[in-house]
Amino acid sequence: MINVTKTFFPPIAEYQAQVQRIWNNQWLTNRGALVKELEEKLKEYLSVTNILVMNNGTIPIQIALKILGNEGEIITTPFSYVATTAAIVWEHCTPVFVDIHPEYLTIDETKIEAAITSKTTCILATHVFGNPCNLEVIEAIAAKHNLKVIYDAAHAFGVTYNNKSIFDYGDVSTCSFHATKLFHTGEGGALFCKDESLRHKMFYSHNFGHNGPLDFHGLGINGKISELSGAMGLAVLPHMEFILNQRKQVVDWYTEHLDFSKVKSIKIREKTQWNYSYYPVIFETEAQLLKVQAVLNEQQIFPRRYFYPSLNTVEFSKGECMPISESIASRVLCLPLYAGLNKEEILSICNLISIA
Ligand SMILES: *Cc1c(COP(=O)(O)O)cnc(C)c1O
Repeated sequence: MINVTKTFFPPIAEYQAQVQRIWNNQWLTNRGALVKELEEKLKEYLSVTNILVMNNGTIPIQIALKILGNEGEIITTPFSYVATTAAIVWEHCTPVFVDIHPEYLTIDETKIEAAITSKTTCILATHVFGNPCNLEVIEAIAAKHNLKVIYDAAHAFGVTYNNKSIFDYGDVSTCSFHATKLFHTGEGGALFCKDESLRHKMFYSHNFGHNGPLDFHGLGINGKISELSGAMGLAVLPHMEFILNQRKQVVDWYTEHLDFSKVKSIKIREKTQWNYSYYPVIFETEAQLLKVQAVLNEQQIFPRRYFYPSLNTVEFSKGECMPISESIASRVLCLPLYAGLNKEEILSICNLISIA
């Protein structure tokens, strides 16, 4: 069976060696030595000045919205994982959708200003499939209208834009270290924020608001990650070069052998060093997609409809019609992409797509 993705498992001895350190330390959570070491190693690997490693990639978005959203309107993309929109609604803010660019699939920055009202507080945009949004234009609009920018960078581990980490952009960037993501800690995530006082607020918010054992800065939640997850991160991180090389190879095979008269791939933004995190292809019609999906499923190959449905159509979002996002969401399929897929498997997938 070939799934859309497959979790990378480091050699078990390497994980056990990290877990042994937890037993030696007799310390299981509340920012232990392994989590702090993972933060230092990630800072170096990603070339960022700050990082807060957390329990998943959703809570950091919620914390950012809690602090910056002010229960106002949040301009956001309808083409993302459901967590992006759900975080807005969960934090009693209102999602205001702006349609996406038909080739980059990121929020269409030229349509953002028309959606701004006196209630708008933030722009929450996703670097979908690791493809950066138009950072310059989004940040110029935010500066002009005094809005905050939060990037859901869940897919963007290791991506650089203009030779700078993608996580360095925006007021806040977040990432997911879920088992299905490029780099993982089982469950986990991270928050990036350059402003010192904002970072301080976010830091106490992720630990119940604690300011020492008896005092509280303010409202908080539990966003802490345990040492067991830290151990997984430390065991996976040394394999990132291998993981990226393998993924690049698979992407190159797809690019070489797919029938591009039948499917279109997305356009990666200029000045981007991409991370090969997903391989979305767009069919001409949903009927074609369903036909190809059925043929692949029959051979025990399971691509996924990322992202479907368009988030303006989910019951809790009450969004307006987003023609491009709805159209793309009905026609996009992510093909299997992970370290360990071999050339025969990719050729077979390409062949099944072309004859379906
Ligand atoms: C995976 C994902 C999240 C949520 O991350 P978790 O770690 O699963 O909480 C948020 N946004 C996007 C775009 C994602 O793909």
